[in-house]
Amino acid sequence: MTTSVAFIGLGNMGNPMAMNLLKKGYPMTVFDLNAAAAKNLIAAGAKGAASAAEAIAGADVVFTSLPGSPQVEPFYLDAGGAVAKAKDGAILVDLSSVLPATPRKIEAAAKARGLRFLEAPVSGGVTGAQAATLAVMTGGDASVLERVQPLLEAIGKNIYHVGPAGAANTIKAINNMLSTVNACALMEGLVVGLKAGLDLKTMGEIIKNSSGNSNAIPRVERAFIPRNFEPGFKVALMNKDLDTFHAIAKEVHAPVSFSNMAQHYQQSALAAGFGEKDTSVIFSLIEQQAGLNNK
Ligand code: NAD
Repeated sequence: MTTSVAFIGLGNMGNPMAMNLLKKGYPMTVFDLNAAAAKNLIAAGAKGAASAAEAIAGADVVFTSLPGSPQVEPFYLDAGGAVAKAKDGAILVDLSSVLPATPRKIEAAAKARGLRFLEAPVSGGVTGAQAATLAVMTGGDASVLERVQPLLEAIGKNIYHVGPAGAANTIKAINNMLSTVNACALMEGLVVGLKAGLDLKTMGEIIKNSSGNSNAIPRVERAFIPRNFEPGFKVALMNKDLDTFHAIAKEVHAPVSFSNMAQHYQQSALAAGFGEKDTSVIFSLIEQQAGLNNK
């Protein structure tokens, strides 16, 4: 019997992940608060639902890709939420990046109803979501991962079982801290170079082939040179991930420092009204602070 899927949250990541599952032939019902986000999936054969409850009714596996804990917790745990409304035997998989406490609460509620839950935050950005090359970090019972592994293989190449619920969102927050620290350091370095009269493209090319290279380097061609700051990955979401990283660091009493500078830049971008822009927009803020007048 073919596994039927509900996919809720069809934004920058959810939409291409749902499309890759659809391409593998899984019958799919989709829902997003923003109806326009479902259009291309419906055109490709998914069934559009008028509500989340309608989308999940009858689904064997429910996927969510929502902004963060404030959306994910009520979605699953409210009286009329997914834990209450999913069909008997359903598996619930949250692909969002959330506080580690969130999957722990949802797993407990799901188990109490005899359902299975897996946290499965992803990494690799929109390009990775489109290419189905995401890293998928899972936390919860390994037997649940085993059951949904073929579906996760439709969205990602590297699938990990990290530990119990909460473990996957812990490594996810650590990864995103590193990603944004790399990117902010690159942006500071490039602005120093610009002020010293160097060419942006040349700097990007040299760093790519030198020891300062990182996953942040493709931003030079993709965002900084064309000045394209559309998401991608929104500042508001990276700020949330740094909140998660700092919450974990506090809880375990570990000193952290670079992450504070990275969050300083996310906060500046939020204050400038750039919460819905790509995190690369921080480049323009550093330029301004350095007295460069690019828009
Ligand atoms: P997004 O803001 O583009 O998409 C979120 C979608 O959820 C929106 O379409 C919104 O309308 C919908 N939504 C919000 N609340 C809802 C609800 N209650 N019911 C139905 N739909 C609802 O965000 P995104 O970039 O797609 O990120 C989704 C998750 O993946 C986040 O947790 C993010 O941190 C994580 N993530 C993002 C990236 C990236 O590069 N964008 C990479 C890895 C992980």
